Amino acid sequence: MTQSFPTTLTRTPKPRQADSALSFGRSFTDHMFIMEYEEGRGWHDARIVPYAPLTLDPATTVLHYAQAVFDGLKAFRGADGTIRLFRVQRHAERLGRSCAGLCIPPIPADLVRQSIEALVAVDHEWVPSTEGTSLYIRPTVIATDVMLGVHPSHRYTYFVICSPVGAYYKEGVKPVRILATDKHVRAVQGGLGESKAAANYAASLSAQQEAERQGFTQVLWLDGVERRWIDEVGTMNIMMKIGEEIVTPPLAGTILDGVTRNSILTLLRDWGHTVSERRISIEEVMQAGREGRLTEMWGTGTAAVVSPVGELGYKEERISIGNGGTGSLTQKLYDSIIGIQYGKLPDAHGWTSEVKLPVTA
Ligand SMILES: *Cc1c(COP(=O)(O)O)cnc(C)c1O
Repeated sequence: MTQSFPTTLTRTPKPRQADSALSFGRSFTDHMFIMEYEEGRGWHDARIVPYAPLTLDPATTVLHYAQAVFDGLKAFRGADGTIRLFRVQRHAERLGRSCAGLCIPPIPADLVRQSIEALVAVDHEWVPSTEGTSLYIRPTVIATDVMLGVHPSHRYTYFVICSPVGAYYKEGVKPVRILATDKHVRAVQGGLGESKAAANYAASLSAQQEAERQGFTQVLWLDGVERRWIDEVGTMNIMMKIGEEIVTPPLAGTILDGVTRNSILTLLRDWGHTVSERRISIEEVMQAGREGRLTEMWGTGTAAVVSPVGELGYKEERISIGNGGTGSLTQKLYDSIIGIQYGKLPDAHGWTSEVKLPVTA
């Protein structure tokens, strides 16, 4: 059931871009969902209103101490016109866990799901229809106490905004070059790595900039203690095929529990592959690469689905993976997830849910 929320429609709808002109996260739909939390009152005043700037006092705690979490998911318009959300409940539950990690009072997952369903229904015309395009949905929670003391805020704002986004791969799936860094770390045991916290992104910027300076697309993150165990790649989970084994680091405290990661592991197991969620060191990966046993490597995340890795750099060494192209398993995973998202392939696990549109007279 989708709850209905008090809704104020815009009187000045914005022009929509052609699907071919869409990029990522630069234009936003006409409406947003918003509600507030106050200690003693709980979450309240849930509503859909015209998209507009937030007004924040300069002393608002989120601006100083980064008590903020978010999530990111997509709605897809299938060839039949149906709009589907991909694993919205799982994203909603993860937002709750992210909140818990930063002392933010969790929002019930059903309420998060309903806020998303209701907003997408109101802005349904903004869901682009060309294959590969989608509506990116960004639920976010920020601390809104006005004071400079450091402790968990007593007030919060939850909002959801949506951005129509273009195809991630306009010319077919394209491999990236990644650089393993032993200088910077993204997250440590006991830190924020398991939460989708804004602060994790701030922590990633300088390493990313340095990788780009060296001609790489993304950073391969190693653990913060020994600087040898592989964690994630950029803002994606990482997987690789070594011989007949598919390996991905375990969810053991520093890694985000990616919805795409979970979906792909499920498909791989359905297909009968040997999948290991185990610690894997950069030395083991480089050695497998030198011996020609590292045949595929890919990142997983909502934005790209899969991002094949064509080259891996570590210290002075560069290894090419599977001739630098997209591996057949990587491509099959991409096609399978995309097929489910656009309603072209059977959804055996019930991952998609249809967005019910408002009945118009
Ligand atoms: C969002 C994110 C992912 C990918 O998660 P999905 O649910 O698959 O989009 C992976 N790692 C990090 C650090 C992330 O922030």
